[in-house]
Amino acid sequence: MSGLITLEVLVDLAYLIAAILFIAGLKGLAHPRSAVRGNLLGALGMLLAIAVTLLDQQILNWVWIVAGVAVGGIVGTILALTIKMTDMPQLVGLFNGFGGAASILVAGAVLIQLFGAADTGATTDGQTLQVTIATVASGLIGAVTFFGSLIAFGKLQGIVTEKPVRYPGEQIVKSLLLLGSIFVGVLIVLDPTQIYLYWVLVGIASVLGIFLVIPIGGADMPIVVALLNSYSGIAAAATGFVLTNNILIIAGSLVGASGIILTQIMCKAMNRSLANVLFGGVGAVVEDSDQGDIYSGRVKSTSAEEVAMILKTAQRVVFVPGYGMAVARAQTAVRQLTEIMEKDGIAVEFGIHPVAGRMPGHMNVLLAEENISYDKLREMDQINPSFPNTDVAIVLGANDVVNPIARESAGSPISGMPILDVDKARTVVVIKRSLSPGFAGIANPLFAADNTLMFFGDGKAAVEDLVSAYKDA
Ligand code: NDP
Repeated sequence: MSGLITLEVLVDLAYLIAAILFIAGLKGLAHPRSAVRGNLLGALGMLLAIAVTLLDQQILNWVWIVAGVAVGGIVGTILALTIKMTDMPQLVGLFNGFGGAASILVAGAVLIQLFGAADTGATTDGQTLQVTIATVASGLIGAVTFFGSLIAFGKLQGIVTEKPVRYPGEQIVKSLLLLGSIFVGVLIVLDPTQIYLYWVLVGIASVLGIFLVIPIGGADMPIVVALLNSYSGIAAAATGFVLTNNILIIAGSLVGASGIILTQIMCKAMNRSLANVLFGGVGAVVEDSDQGDIYSGRVKSTSAEEVAMILKTAQRVVFVPGYGMAVARAQTAVRQLTEIMEKDGIAVEFGIHPVAGRMPGHMNVLLAEENISYDKLREMDQINPSFPNTDVAIVLGANDVVNPIARESAGSPISGMPILDVDKARTVVVIKRSLSPGFAGIANPLFAADNTLMFFGDGKAAVEDLVSAYKDA
C-alpha cells in the first residue's frame, strides 16, 4: 500500500491543498470581515506551493534561491512600508508588471534549456507543441503586461502624460503589432530552435503593451491596472503549461479570472463598458465652462461651530467618504467624531460608493485601519433608501460619487453612473478645500443645493475642528 504513495502523489496532494487554500482565500477577500483571514489563507497556500515546488524540482542551487528571496523580500518590504496610501494603485500596477516580466523570463529560460543547444535531440511531439505554444503565450502576454504596467505606473505617478495619446490609424497600428507577434509566435512553434525569434516576439509585444495603454487617460488607469492584473495571471497560467506545473496553472487562472471580474465591477460602477475604457480615450481632465453659472450666488459656506450645533440635534448621521478623505488622511478624526456622537445616542453610518477613492475598497481599507466596525459600513444600494430619513449627510472629500448630474442620461462623463443620494438627506455638509471638481472634472450642483452647507478646508483639519466644536457645543 505504502508503495503507492510516491513523491509525485504527495506533491499533487500538496498542490491540491494549496489550490483549496487559494480559493478559500479569494472567498475570504470578498468581505471586509473575513479579508485578513482570506489573505493569510492565500499566503499559506503560496508558501506550501513554493516549498513543494522547490522539493519536487530538487533544486540544488539554494544560494541563488535564498539570494533571490532576500533581495525581493527586502525591496518588497521597503516599498510596502514607505508607499503612501494614495500611491497604492501604481504600486499594484508595478507588481502586476513584475509578474508579466517573470513569465517572460521563465518561459524564455525553458525554451533555451530545451532547444538552445545545437543538437538537443528534441522532437516536435505533443509535449513539445504544448511547451512551445505556452512559451509563445507567456512571452506575448507577459510582455504586454510588463510594458503596459510600466506605462500605467508612469501615468499614475505623473512621469508619463496622463492625457490619452491618440493618433490617426491607432487601431490599425495596434492590430498590426498583434498580428506581427502572432506571426512570429507561429514561427517559434514551427522551429523552436530559433531562440532569437522569442526575443523578437517579446520586443513586438512590448511595443504593443505600450501602444495599448498610452491612448488611455490617466483617470482610467485603475481599471487598466485591474485588467493588467488579469493578464499577469493568464501569463502565469501559460508559464504553468511551459513548466507542466499544475499549481501555477491554477493560481494563474484564479488571478486571471478574478482580475477580469474586478475590471467588470469597476466598469459597471462607473457606468462604462470595457471597450469604452480601452478605446474611448475618456479620462483627461475636462474643462468645465458651466461651473460659474451653477454656483453663482448659491453656495452657502459654514463653520465648525454651526455644523456642531446641527449635529447635536441630529438622530441619524451618515458619513460619505471619498478620495479627499484619503488625501487628507482624515479617518482618525472621523473615528473620533463618530465616537463622541455615538456617546450622545446619535446613530452613525458610512455610505460607501464602489468607486469612491482611487481603487476598489479604498474607503473600506482606510476605515478598517481605524477599527471602525464593518457593521456601520453600508454599500450604496443598502444606504440609498435611508437618506430621506437622515438628518445630516457629511460628505468628506467625495465629489463625483455624490454628483446628481450623474442621474441625467447623457451629456457628462458620469452620466448614468449610480450615485449616493446624499441630496435627499435633510442637511448635507460637504467638507472639501474649494469648489474644484473631482476626478471626472465636472461641476457638482449638490454644492449649490438649498439643503447643502459647504465646510471649506482640508479634510483632516476640518473634522478635527468639528470634534473640538462638538465637545464645546
Ligand atoms: P472625486 O475625485 O470625485 O473628488 C475628490 C474631492 O476630494 C475633490 O473634489 C477635492 O476637492 C477633494 N479633496 C482633495 N484633497 C482634499 C483634502 N486634503 N481635504 C478635503 N478634500 C479634498 O472623489 P470621489 O471619491 O467622489 O470619486 C472617485 C472618482 O474616481 C470617481 O469619478 C470614480 O469613477 C473615479 N475612479 C475611482 C476608482 C476606484 O477604483 N475607486 C478607479 C478609477 C476611477 P478640493 O480640491 O476642493 O479639496
